[in-house]
Amino acid sequence: MKFGFVSFIGRPNVGKSTLFNALLGTKLAIVSPKPQTTRNRISGILTTKEGQVVFWDLPGIHKALGVMNKRMVSIALNAISNINLALWVIDAEKDARIDDFIMGHIKHKKPPLILVINKIDLIAKDKLFPMVDLYSKAYDFLEIVPVSATKEENIDDLRQSIFKHLSEGEAMFGEEDLTEVPERVLVSEMVREKIFQLTHQEIPYSTAVQVITFEEKPKLISIYAEIWVEKNTQKGIIIGKGGEMIRKIGTLARRDIEDLLGSKIYLELIVKVKENWREKPAVLDTLGIRA
Ligand code: GDP
Ligand code: MG
Repeated sequence: MKFGFVSFIGRPNVGKSTLFNALLGTKLAIVSPKPQTTRNRISGILTTKEGQVVFWDLPGIHKALGVMNKRMVSIALNAISNINLALWVIDAEKDARIDDFIMGHIKHKKPPLILVINKIDLIAKDKLFPMVDLYSKAYDFLEIVPVSATKEENIDDLRQSIFKHLSEGEAMFGEEDLTEVPERVLVSEMVREKIFQLTHQEIPYSTAVQVITFEEKPKLISIYAEIWVEKNTQKGIIIGKGGEMIRKIGTLARRDIEDLLGSKIYLELIVKVKENWREKPAVLDTLGIRA
């Protein structure tokens, strides 16, 4: 049997979280069209007849400003070492040139690395060859695998390549285990995803979600969560006219949480202003965003 830890590295928005979900066959990680949606390490455990892989979805690597974003990038960079295999995900449409910052870290740490060219549904097939050529000359990749995470193209091939490059080892988790992330963190992530999908400009970036109570009753899980924003004006936008926005966030998040936890959910959301929370190390510690 094979076993290993596999992390996803790459620029923001290239589809790391979408690919993570596709490889697992479950929606665990949150996804949005906006960069920097993922703020923390999320584990996903895949167990097949070939063995077990623990995937680490990660924030994107970028030149970060601010305390929170700097922590996010450190979390991502740390995951280039101490793993058995890394997947460097690039965007077929946007990464025709190599990102020097990421390549610099890769060349320094030399992880066993598969290059995944994602979003091939967006390009003409003949654009792929010059890309493969360019990247393969820049680093000694174990393999280069073109995929489409959203169209689920070549995902089986990628899974096979991953197992092929892992060593023999005993599974660390049970067959039913899907993640090490606590349920309340998954819940807050689902709420945060809806905010990233439904709001604009600075709003999603100024928002955090914290589950305050999580009560399992016989036929229902009752959850009370706070949505933190940085300013009063942002609170108004999250609530929306007559509470329309917060109701929409709640309804969509509840559906995803019900699918994920396989239970009926009662979800109550309250918006609170926490000035400048993104710059406060202690608040970031509470949210689990620790480098
Ligand atoms: P991350 O920041 O790298 O984790 O990226 P996400 O997984 O959040 O995805 C960013 C955006 O790219 C989302 O709008 C996804 O739907 C989109 N996306 C991801 N994979 C693909 C793909 O294979 N094809 C296309 N067309 N879009 C994709
Ligand atoms: Mg992500």
